[in-house]
Amino acid sequence: MTINIILLGPPGAGKGTQARRLVEDRGMVQLSTGDMLRAARSSGTEMGKRVAEVMDRGQLVTDEIVIGLIREQLAGGGAGFIFDGFPRTLGQADALGQLLSETGMSLDAVIEMQVDDEALVRRITGRFTCGNCGEVYHDQTKPTAVAGVCDVCGSTDLKRRADDNEDSLKTRLLEYYKKTSPLIGYYYAKDKLTQVDGLAEMDEVSAQIAAALDGTGPKA
Ligand code: AMP
Repeated sequence: MTINIILLGPPGAGKGTQARRLVEDRGMVQLSTGDMLRAARSSGTEMGKRVAEVMDRGQLVTDEIVIGLIREQLAGGGAGFIFDGFPRTLGQADALGQLLSETGMSLDAVIEMQVDDEALVRRITGRFTCGNCGEVYHDQTKPTAVAGVCDVCGSTDLKRRADDNEDSLKTRLLEYYKKTSPLIGYYYAKDKLTQVDGLAEMDEVSAQIAAALDGTGPKA
């Protein structure tokens, strides 16, 4: 069965972590505009150079750029797509609806991961990831077993994001509340929204998402 879903929530809500689990457990394809933009930056493309500063400040890049990135990826979705960090504006949400219907696909669920702001600051400021396999760690809550070495793949390429600091985070939160949070009402009205407790244990969050995808969980 093919299902296409959006993971919606503020920075640090755990979208990336849950998306990676869905990729492993269900063979879905993760489409993270944040990852695509970071890849564009590190490969030094024109677009990457243009967006680098905007990202580091914590602001949103233009709808045109991210819609273009998603459009390029909407083929060969296997068990379905997980839109992670996209859409982030109403314009992007409309564009996604259009793109999906043009390609004969549907949007099956929007999972809103709810987390309070204080928890976000704690999560984001301690966060680091493996540059090789993408595993996400945290200084306090999920350190590596051996300092400086990824538990999963053994790489020593552990990285902190340039925008994972308190200043950029404030801007990212503002952007979320001003531009992205209206999507909660938008998808509620379309009868697509399910809310999960993003502060629960990771396995519990995964279970809540699985229940939503298998149609057994409560709708918002
Ligand atoms: P993320 O990894 O999802 O937290 O995204 C990191 C940064 O990339 C954001 O703070 C934005 O600057 C940019 N970005 C990612 N996705 C989008 C999007 N859908 N629309 C606009 N900007 C985005």
